[in-house]
Amino acid sequence: MSDAFPILNSPLDLGFTTLRNRIMMGSMHTGLEDKYKDYKDFAAYFEARAKGGTALIVTGGFSPNLEGWLFPFASKMTSRSAVKHHKLITDAVHKHDGKICMQLLHAGRYAYHPLSVSASNIKSPINPFKPREIGDFGIRRTIAAFAKSAKLAQESGYDGVEIMGSEGYFLNQFICKRANQRTDRWGGPVENRARLSVEIVRRVREAVGPNFIIIYRHSLLDLVEGGNTWDEVLYIAKAIEEAGATLLNTGIGWHEAKVPTIVTSVPRAAFAELTGRLRKELKIPVIASNRINKPEVAEKLLQDGQCDMVSMARPLLADPEFAIKAKEGRADEINVCIACNQACLDHTFSLKKASCLVNPRACHELEIKDTPVARKKKLAVVGAGPAGLNAAIELGRKGHEVTLFDQAAEIGGQFNMAKAIPGKEEFFESIAFWKRQLELKGVTTRLSTRVTEELIQAEKFDEVVVATGIKPRTPDIPGVDHPKVMSYIDVLLHKKPVGKKVAVIGAGGIGFDVSEYLAHDFSHPSPTLDLETWKKEWGITFDPANPGGIANMNPEPPAPAREIYLCQRKDEPLGKRLGKTSGWVHKASLRSRHVRFLQGVEYLLIDDKGLHIMSAKGPQILDVDNVVICAGQDCLRELADALEGKNIPVHVVGGASVASELDAKRAINQAVRLAVTI
Ligand code: FAD
Ligand code: NAP
Ligand code: SF4
Repeated sequence: MSDAFPILNSPLDLGFTTLRNRIMMGSMHTGLEDKYKDYKDFAAYFEARAKGGTALIVTGGFSPNLEGWLFPFASKMTSRSAVKHHKLITDAVHKHDGKICMQLLHAGRYAYHPLSVSASNIKSPINPFKPREIGDFGIRRTIAAFAKSAKLAQESGYDGVEIMGSEGYFLNQFICKRANQRTDRWGGPVENRARLSVEIVRRVREAVGPNFIIIYRHSLLDLVEGGNTWDEVLYIAKAIEEAGATLLNTGIGWHEAKVPTIVTSVPRAAFAELTGRLRKELKIPVIASNRINKPEVAEKLLQDGQCDMVSMARPLLADPEFAIKAKEGRADEINVCIACNQACLDHTFSLKKASCLVNPRACHELEIKDTPVARKKKLAVVGAGPAGLNAAIELGRKGHEVTLFDQAAEIGGQFNMAKAIPGKEEFFESIAFWKRQLELKGVTTRLSTRVTEELIQAEKFDEVVVATGIKPRTPDIPGVDHPKVMSYIDVLLHKKPVGKKVAVIGAGGIGFDVSEYLAHDFSHPSPTLDLETWKKEWGITFDPANPGGIANMNPEPPAPAREIYLCQRKDEPLGKRLGKTSGWVHKASLRSRHVRFLQGVEYLLIDDKGLHIMSAKGPQILDVDNVVICAGQDCLRELADALEGKNIPVHVVGGASVASELDAKRAINQAVRLAVTI
């Protein structure tokens, strides 16, 4: 046991039970909740986290009734027939001395179906369904439904429940004037608006008795107009404590808020100060949440007295052994969540099973399994980008003799460009993790070595994994060889000087990232690394008098470093195909830096005058100093083609196999799934 994280690794005594450390896996809908046929996978997913040392796990949300369903046939806890299915989960967690709570979540006006109800019949801006205003009788039935669900959870072996009172769901809708304009005993002053949550906690406590964990997830900062002031937040927290809650968890921002709360550009632990403020006022332990992704960050919050426990949801998808690695002083072996949302929340919001970009085994624990190794093989992996790195690490883990090559002087492939983008600093963490894993798995790394067919033949490898990635596409535009034209690689990797006026050709993920990079003034820190700058950029404040944290504040993004035109040929809004849960943040960030979005563009010519284009507005010359090409990528298959038919098994993964719409999620998933079969 290491003493690197003394408080994080210390037990938390809740009186009637003790948690083995301060790590809670926060609630996250994975898509495994909804159908009992998935419950073996669901149990295996939680079992891996309990085995990995997590003290307390919270499931994705289960509705107490049909009205509260997130969408038709989504997870609910309403009948005794559910108990035997849930026992699979609770037994799996208890086998490893973990504890697990079921989250009870009523979606209210976020429900994606016509039966939705809310405090008032005010539609949410992010949902087409207008809710019905729930009546007094309906409210009483809902309170009873919560109590019944909690009792069923207890019968299923859960150690407790978490009552979801934040993120703009049903209870939060009652708590804030934004969605509650009632004039009866459930609306008006804060005592009335809080009544539903308080009654639910009280009735749940009555139903389950004293020795059962009740976590209440409370909105400490609504980040919407019509949110609560700090006095109201505090009043509600105290009333919830009084009603019988065991732990108070932090919720930040309604889903309809226009301020990001968890994407990678949000500073780490950005909102923990609010949890700390609450902790001083309560007797029960409080839990900090949002963008806590490393044990160092968690320990600091605990040391500073900001919280008693930390909630991490995505970081435990990324590494099920987070807790045990922190305990054993192996923090440098943690596969850090980079907060990309690409395989977790983006999947959930597209009704796909969640997983993790850096850990494709997440939610697929039973599916991605090693085939037995009949013979130790001498293997070459060519390309140390995300695909090659993950293939090499897995093959090394399986006991093969692996040599990983890259022509570059460092590992990481395109992640070395991604990590240069302000707001994507987390990408450093993946490269550091892979580097450590190569050492641990005994992989020989040969950098600055361009691999040819001759090298492979001369060194007598048994098999080759080709992960050589991509080559950037050069579009066929007259003047594309003009000296003012550059590729994104020139800008991000070779750091070539770029003028004050720039046109970016191609508005995919890389075009957006390059625009972000070019708009940034590097004499100031990235807002992601400086909380006060970031708060100003998004127009938020932690001032206790400020309702919801946004009133009276105007966003003040830093002045852009350049004048930028971001162009695409498709006649559709730019950024339409970016990640569901992060694309809006990229768009808002560029807009606030005055980047001009041009769609439906035809590129006519590049010359001394600039970039000549045609669009619905007619011909136009963008008078720019440089044109940066971000027009997608093609597979780099030279080596794979050269090895074809040469009597040596060749496997092609990552960008070398598919370049269109390739992202690191696909590259890593493909590499891991291949490696377990060799
Ligand atoms: P690469 O990362 O391209 O690695 C291939 C490696 O092979 C290179 O290091 C190269 O030097 C080496 N190589 C090639 N030929 C040889 C040879 N003959 N001998 C030896 N070595 C060779 N994806 C996401 O999912 N999310 C993001 O947010 C994201 N952001 C990005 C931001 C930027 C700025 C960029 C440029 C890319 C981003 N990507 C992102 C894309 C992602 O990085 C790629 O999908 C991923 O790197 C592909 O992995 P790969 O291993 O297939 O190829
Ligand atoms: P991309 O997403 O395919 O975008 C390429 C862009 O170039 C498109 O806007 C395309 O739109 C344009 N284009 C394609 N061919 C062209 C041509 N011949 N002439 C002019 N324009 C052309 O690829 P990318 O931006 O290079 O990104 C590569 C991969 O990395 C993608 O999978 C991406 O998802 C991933 N990535 C992800 C992120 C992220 O934040 N999630 C960030 C960066 C990269 P038009 O044809 O309409 O102009
Ligand atoms: Fe974290 Fe990205 Fe994995 Fe989600 S997909 S858990 S955000 S690394």
